Order: sequence, then structure tokens, then C-alpha cells
Amino acid sequence: MNNYYCPYCNPKYQFQKKSTSGELICGSCGDPLIKRQFIKINQIIAIVASLSLVLPLIYTFIILIKNQVNPPRRNYQAYTNSIEKISKLKNLSTSTK
Ligand SMILES: [Zn+2]
Repeated sequence: MNNYYCPYCNPKYQFQKKSTSGELICGSCGDPLIKRQFIKINQIIAIVASLSLVLPLIYTFIILIKNQVNPPRRNYQAYTNSIEKISKLKNLSTSTK
């Protein structure tokens, strides 16, 4: 892959030439070639946008799996049931006295 490209010509039909001064020019239009950046700004924006969509999904899946492996201790339904049982037991103990 070439590190230099011509922004005006079709990337399929580009070939490099060296001018008499020694700099690289486009073979078809004669403009000086521009150095290709490793990561374009568009790619960075696309990565950030896709991550903003995908990361919450991954996060919810992690939380889901984590809760299934060891469920949270705060089970309010069980807590209210235990309160009812305790109060019933207290009522029984007071009625027998
Ligand atoms: Zn060109």
C-alpha cells in the first residue's frame, strides 16, 4: 500500500512519478502527492459512534451475567416474607403466654 496518494484522481488508476525536483507527483494529473494518514478523522468518529452504541449493550450483558452468577443479596420480597414470619412467630409466642 502506498503511503502517498493524489486527492483528485481515482485511487484505482494512480501511479507515482518523481518530478525533476525530486518530489513525488501524480502520474496522471501532475499534482504533488499527499501523505496518507494512518487513521483518518472519519474513522475515529466512526469508532466512537459505534462504541457508544455497542458499549452499553456489552455493559448490560456483563451485569446480567454477573447477577446470574451471584445474585444480589437485597431480595426485598424475601425480606418482607421474613418480616411476616418473624411477626407471626412473635404473635404465637405472645398468645401462648
Ligand atoms: Zn492525480
